[in-house]
Amino acid sequence: MSADLPALSVNRRRFIGTLLAGSAVLAFGELVLPRPALATAGPFTLPPLPYGDDALSPAISANTIGFHYSKHHQGYINNLNKLVAGTPFADQPLDAVVKATAGQADQVAIFNNAAQVWNHNFYWNSLRPQGGGKPSGILAELINQSFGDYNTFKAEFAKAATSQFGSGWAWLVKDGDKLIVTKTGNADTPIAHGQQPLLTIDVWEHAYYLDYQNRRADYVTAVLENLINWEFAAQNLAG
Ligand code: MN
Repeated sequence: MSADLPALSVNRRRFIGTLLAGSAVLAFGELVLPRPALATAGPFTLPPLPYGDDALSPAISANTIGFHYSKHHQGYINNLNKLVAGTPFADQPLDAVVKATAGQADQVAIFNNAAQVWNHNFYWNSLRPQGGGKPSGILAELINQSFGDYNTFKAEFAKAATSQFGSGWAWLVKDGDKLIVTKTGNADTPIAHGQQPLLTIDVWEHAYYLDYQNRRADYVTAVLENLINWEFAAQNLAG
């Protein structure tokens, strides 16, 4: 990339913003870009998707991923950056912003957007191509200890995801020394309740409506059977 390129396009700025947010910037160490030139100015940036837009198809289409990641997730980040501008939250890690604003009546907008950014960051990593099925190792043991067996866990997770009334999330979390399935409404998140999330499924309609319309249960089944990322759960358990 040379210095005589024309003015950066919005897409190019966003791409470079993503690079600056991650370790990839090291590979472009010779680049010196003024931060005020970035399109999404602000402390919080959209992390790269861990796979291509079409990598989860057919369980989740590239069309759904495109809107969900580039419009919804990006939208929460843009809103959050506007809301924290000039406040102490602009200098805090995302999880600290979520925990500090949870339950605060005068910080509802910041909480909603910060928690939605955190939840979506976590959701994309809870899925992977060729995922799904049963876990192994210590996770398998914990699932058996906590739920009896894998099929009981799977049924409980699916029930939480399908029975969440309206928008929200279904979760597998570590709570004390056992695993439990839980659900949260709207932007609410287990990290605001002292729980350690291992996996999540987004059950807002925008997560599945283009592919499944009103059939949320079919989306949840497809995620559990084909996409759920047990390696990510194991990392969260260890972390
Ligand atoms: Mn979503």
